[in-house]
Amino acid sequence: MTRICFIGVGTMGLPMAKNLVKKGFAVTAYDLNPEAVRAAGMTAAASAAEAVAGMDLVITMLPSSPHVEAVYTGDGGVLAAARRGTLCVDMSTIDPAASRRVAGAAAERGLRFMDAPVSGGTPRATDGTLAIMVGGAPEDFQAALPALQAMGANVIHVGPVGSGEVAKLCNNLIAGVAAVAVSEAFRIAEGFGVDPKVLTDVISKSSGNTWVMEHMHPVPGLVGKAPANRDYAPGFMTDLMAKDLGLAVSAARDLRVPVFVAPAAQQVLRLASSHGLGRKDFSVVYEFLKPSSSQAPV
Ligand code: NAD
Repeated sequence: MTRICFIGVGTMGLPMAKNLVKKGFAVTAYDLNPEAVRAAGMTAAASAAEAVAGMDLVITMLPSSPHVEAVYTGDGGVLAAARRGTLCVDMSTIDPAASRRVAGAAAERGLRFMDAPVSGGTPRATDGTLAIMVGGAPEDFQAALPALQAMGANVIHVGPVGSGEVAKLCNNLIAGVAAVAVSEAFRIAEGFGVDPKVLTDVISKSSGNTWVMEHMHPVPGLVGKAPANRDYAPGFMTDLMAKDLGLAVSAARDLRVPVFVAPAAQQVLRLASSHGLGRKDFSVVYEFLKPSSSQAPV
């Protein structure tokens, strides 16, 4: 049986690790937060080094690039403790350049590394139906496939290391911008007194339809499982979406690609975060985009 070490059992990592257990994998969990490991109810390790000892597969699901680099290359990190040949799969959303740095450091120690970020949020993490986009060597992709298929319904090999992250950033650029666009549209409609339910029916059959509106509708009361119906509990946090848009903007800068709407959406989300909404679902941007006083000059 493949022995898997899962590092980072937070909002996404916990349901993903639980699906591995359900499919019969032996999983050892580690998280900086001991409460998260206790809640996971699986074999627990006291450190990353202890967690990876004797494992066949290491999976990480951490917030951002610095966390991933620290867990792999820091003192007592995965690369120092794992045995040669171990396959490491980072499923966090991070800078593709950071994935490539970690892959290089892993190769120097005789370890294999792939990036495999995910899309679909907590509902699909729980159902085991995530979209998983993978960057890595074809033979490593094949080796990790049974575990990845325990967590996702669509597992796609995008290309070499870093390519999975590139696909993820491109996807989230679209989703982040869409959340702001949908929120602006519904605020305008409300101003005119148009029923948001009727507008949703219209848009869902028209060219403005988006996944964000269908699944994460920012207006409360319109889509059953949307975070808006539980005071915007994530879901996918505003801070994480702002991070992802920032990664896309920084990649665009390095590539000299002009980008206009991604930085604007990122700044709206950052501002929402400055006003205390960073740990709410990113659809909360609708709450933030309230109209100003009707007395304000226009
Ligand atoms: P989270 O903050 O809920 O979970 C991250 C976990 O990592 C936490 O439990 C934290 O304690 C742990 N951690 C941090 N540093 C650590 C370390 N050094 N060692 C061990 N554990 C450590 O975040 P999340 O929502 O689960 O997101 C994880 C990643 O998945 C992010 O990159 C995010 O962008 C991406 N993602 C999230 C969603 C979503 O809907 N939440 C969807 C797709 C992708």
